[in-house]
Amino acid sequence: MIRNSTLLGGGIEIDLDAITRNWRALDAVAANALTGAVLKADAYGTGIKTVSRTLFKAGARFFFVATPDEGLSLKAAVPQAHVFVLDGLLPGTARDYAEHGLMPVLASTEQLGEWLDYCLAVGEAAPAALHFDTGFNRVGLRMDEAEGVAEALKQSGFEPQMIMSHLACADQPQHEMTRKQYGLFQGLRNQFPNIPASLANSAGLMASKDFHFQMVRPGIAVYGGRAINGRPNPMAPVIRMEVPVLQTKSARAGETVGYGASYRLRRDSRLAIIAMGYADGLFRSLSGVHGHKGGTVAIGGQLAPIVGRVSMDMTAVDITDIPAPLRAGDTVEVLGETIGIDDVAEAAGTIGYEILTQFNGRFPRRYANVPEGVEVD
Ligand SMILES: *Cc1c(COP(=O)(O)O)cnc(C)c1O
Repeated sequence: MIRNSTLLGGGIEIDLDAITRNWRALDAVAANALTGAVLKADAYGTGIKTVSRTLFKAGARFFFVATPDEGLSLKAAVPQAHVFVLDGLLPGTARDYAEHGLMPVLASTEQLGEWLDYCLAVGEAAPAALHFDTGFNRVGLRMDEAEGVAEALKQSGFEPQMIMSHLACADQPQHEMTRKQYGLFQGLRNQFPNIPASLANSAGLMASKDFHFQMVRPGIAVYGGRAINGRPNPMAPVIRMEVPVLQTKSARAGETVGYGASYRLRRDSRLAIIAMGYADGLFRSLSGVHGHKGGTVAIGGQLAPIVGRVSMDMTAVDITDIPAPLRAGDTVEVLGETIGIDDVAEAAGTIGYEILTQFNGRFPRRYANVPEGVEVD
């Protein structure tokens, strides 16, 4: 049996106190800027409604989501929230945004034109932000459009809430790309002198005060993920995941495990089959096969390797070296005190962001340390 386990039968536990502490710690680092919070992809898999209420209680007032639907969910949970929609404005949707109090992050002259037309039609400046592309080559107004945009703003009298850009290599302040983007962004600030500016994600926030400007936009660090590679991660872990054992068994040296018979046991072994597979976000790249070390789970604080291919709903782990008796119905840690999201990410060849946003499958989600007055979904 797992020590301290409250997840009978397995599940995901989100520590809301850790989310609060993380956001406050980031807010303290960026003391001279407003600290927003990025809640796209269901708050990085942790639950947009409960987490937005938690962050609002902690003091956050500005939120960033990817899609208008996410914005509506957030507004339903926290009507007072100021919500920016990073995907920008799709044609014909200006009224929907404005009527629901959502602020598009306008990313092209077409989007800006459509927004200004809407504002003219209703005779009111509906709030929005402008996103400039300083080199990322994702969404955003081009730098050579800045002058025309400044002119259009002057003529219409419309003032955006914010100008923003996004760093491609935020965790490396000395990277040529970062210096280039920073320089271009400073130029934009001169072109839009009285408009608040925002550049930093989690890594930018942690990397340098120079990137803070008037608003910072942390995402991953709020959820306990590592923002800067190669540095110790100062954030509190937020997510814990435990998965039940379906069966344990003995297998002989020389036998193989799983699809493709791609893992052969070198010794007589004890295996546990856990009720989680790639359909639940346990990446197939965590398979332990010959020539490729896979992921691990933890049992009583000790690591047990995944052996054979991860299948859709089940995965085998080698528990030969685990002294604790393990039986069907007991749980193993997939994420938690022993295994962090970045450990899983490393083993899977990806980043913590992808791990967080994939673990959204069949397992019940529970919240721990719910702040007083925060309603939980
Ligand atoms: C996702 C995102 C963020 C947050 O990034 P993290 O690395 O998770 O802190 C900030 N700004 C924009 C534009 C984003 O898309």
